[in-house]
Amino acid sequence: MSILEKVHPLSDKVMRMAESETLRMAALARELKSQGKEVINLSIGEPDFDTPVHIKEAAKKALDEGFTKYTPVPGIPELREAISHKLKRDNGLDFKPSQIVVSNGAKQSLANVFFSLLNEGDEVIVLAPYWVSYIEMVKIAGGKPVVVFAGIEQDYKATAAQIAEAISPRTKALLFSSPCNPTGSVYSKEELEEIANVVAPYPEITVISDEIYEYITFAGEHVSIGTFDQVKDRTVVVNGFSKGFAMTGWRLGYIGAPDWLAAACSKIQGQFTSGANSFGQKAAVTALTSDLGPTYQMREAFLKRRDLVTDLLSQIPGFKVNKPLGAFYSFPDISNFFGKSDGTFTINNADDFSEFIIHKAQVALVSGAAFGADQCIRLSFAASEEELVTAIRNIGEAVALLK
Ligand code: PMP
Ligand code: GLU
Repeated sequence: MSILEKVHPLSDKVMRMAESETLRMAALARELKSQGKEVINLSIGEPDFDTPVHIKEAAKKALDEGFTKYTPVPGIPELREAISHKLKRDNGLDFKPSQIVVSNGAKQSLANVFFSLLNEGDEVIVLAPYWVSYIEMVKIAGGKPVVVFAGIEQDYKATAAQIAEAISPRTKALLFSSPCNPTGSVYSKEELEEIANVVAPYPEITVISDEIYEYITFAGEHVSIGTFDQVKDRTVVVNGFSKGFAMTGWRLGYIGAPDWLAAACSKIQGQFTSGANSFGQKAAVTALTSDLGPTYQMREAFLKRRDLVTDLLSQIPGFKVNKPLGAFYSFPDISNFFGKSDGTFTINNADDFSEFIIHKAQVALVSGAAFGADQCIRLSFAASEEELVTAIRNIGEAVALLK
């Protein structure tokens, strides 16, 4: 019996909540490795690079200077200033420092936003495939996710018409990521403008734009939906340091939001966690105000791996493969294998497929079901080329057994 089963006085809220599938698979891969099994972990979305040295030096300096105390809840003034400047410089967005709230990761930024916006039963249109934690976060904040799905045949991108159809009198927010986790799809400027036009007549709808992969784009300039006049006053841009600066363990994220929403997020954060860690914020200032060379070098490495992975996966019979234009994920449709078996194990869905692969090919992937796409699997290519080649060869050999 799982320790979480209801023999303990746990809340209905936590009992209803699903565990994070990305973190579960990463933990499973770690566990198998610790048992001496040679698992290649392509489950978690985390740059395999170290944080650039100059950023680490800035944190060390802050520690040495005794910058170790509580900080203002929405962030230290110089970081809010640097973020405000960065949003203008890189994204053409106008957020004053007072509209920036720094949090313990973009995850907390998103949670703050949902708790600030949602009343019981309020609807959030979530574009699927979606990032794993959106749905559970919206639900625990009292909201109702309304999922709008786009499959591989439309490059996993919802159309403005689909979104228009999902709007109801209870719609409170529209939520999506571009570049997208898990698909790597990037909405073009024109597509974003069409979406902005659809939302424009509904002032009560807040646009939540998760742009945490903005620096990992392979298709030219990153465009934020917040640049369109129709929605600029009610767009909250979510971003962070985990991906672009390889700072996942530092836990630093932020929002740029309308004044009223930034104030609410700060109020919530003040009761839950206070300001983010002090010396990390100093390092974050350095990350944003220095040369972005290391960030772009990482992007180049991801681009090379994107090409490698796309090429190798497309050679596996039965795989339908997309070409991600950003982030570091490939999201193949593997529904061709449903109903097939290797003689002992039958694949009926993406969960079965990823279980089959971890046992037969020793590769940890994440089932698309976690992202609202049960016909797909997610493979992170934030791993060395050698690991990727071996992993995909093993996957190919394993699926060849399925008849
Ligand atoms: N949004 C997306 C789309 C992500 O992939 C992630 C990474 N887990 C996050 C938010 C949260 O990032 P952070 O590490 O800053 O909490
Ligand atoms: N964003 C990463 C992922 O999707 C990190 C893990 C997580 O926070 O869920 O795998």
